[in-house]
Amino acid sequence: MSRSYECHGHLMMDGADFASARKRHCSGVDTDALRASLDALRAAGVTYFRDGGDAYGVSALGREIAPEYGIEVVTPVFAIYKRGYYGSIVGRDFIDIASFRRRIEELRNAKGDFVKLMLSGIITFRAFGELSCDGLDTEEIKEMVHIAHCEGYSVMAHVNGEQTVRAAAAAGVDSVEHGYFADRESLDIMSEKQIIWVPTLAAVEAFIGREGIGCAVAERTLDEQLDCVARARTMKIPVAAGSDSGAVGVPHGAGTLREYELLAGAGLTPDEIESANEMLRKKFAPRGGSPVV
Ligand SMILES: [Zn+2]
Repeated sequence: MSRSYECHGHLMMDGADFASARKRHCSGVDTDALRASLDALRAAGVTYFRDGGDAYGVSALGREIAPEYGIEVVTPVFAIYKRGYYGSIVGRDFIDIASFRRRIEELRNAKGDFVKLMLSGIITFRAFGELSCDGLDTEEIKEMVHIAHCEGYSVMAHVNGEQTVRAAAAAGVDSVEHGYFADRESLDIMSEKQIIWVPTLAAVEAFIGREGIGCAVAERTLDEQLDCVARARTMKIPVAAGSDSGAVGVPHGAGTLREYELLAGAGLTPDEIESANEMLRKKFAPRGGSPVV
């Protein structure tokens, strides 16, 4: 069995239905469901899982029990998002820089391994390039990333949209998650700074053909992202394998394997994927709440 890395997933979700997953865990982690996810990952040969966080402590418990499955889990415990913007499903909000700093303190107390920031909305699939809400302000992004780095944490950034991806890259996030609709300038910065990109192709492919979703929009979104990944490869941007495992239509295990296929389809070699994955694993090494360095 080959060993696979899942560089962006959510143990809290089950790949099927978000509302029922939330209900299952919201008044205490359902360990049976968590163990079922870990089982599916193990069966697919997944040995490393970087969680994107959740609001219910599922990934934190997952990190504790995953070694029983031969899996290393790292997690920010919860993601941090700005009130009124996207992110409540995976994290805790802030309203200003002072409250952002308090969230970082909470993350330290909860033994988060790194900081996960929600910087933009999600893709609506109603019109090409449309996102569910505005991205955060460029200056604010710069300040948040600066604070997280000063506190000794790497930054995993959920970000889509030309302008916001550019702001995140310029601010020096350690990994760009999704990164849909990134422009050439963003790729230039990512290449120069060697920012790791996790394009989560399987997560968008899962929308193609889904009821109520603009099929042509979803297809074009995936096609353009595949082109962008191919370009990133020629620019020597490290592209890592993360499927958004657990998101709707992305079952744990199968989702990771599909992401590898899609990356290969964009021209990445197994060695290139592995080296980006290893780079990510090193950058997001377990911190377990160790003191500021
Ligand atoms: Zn995610």
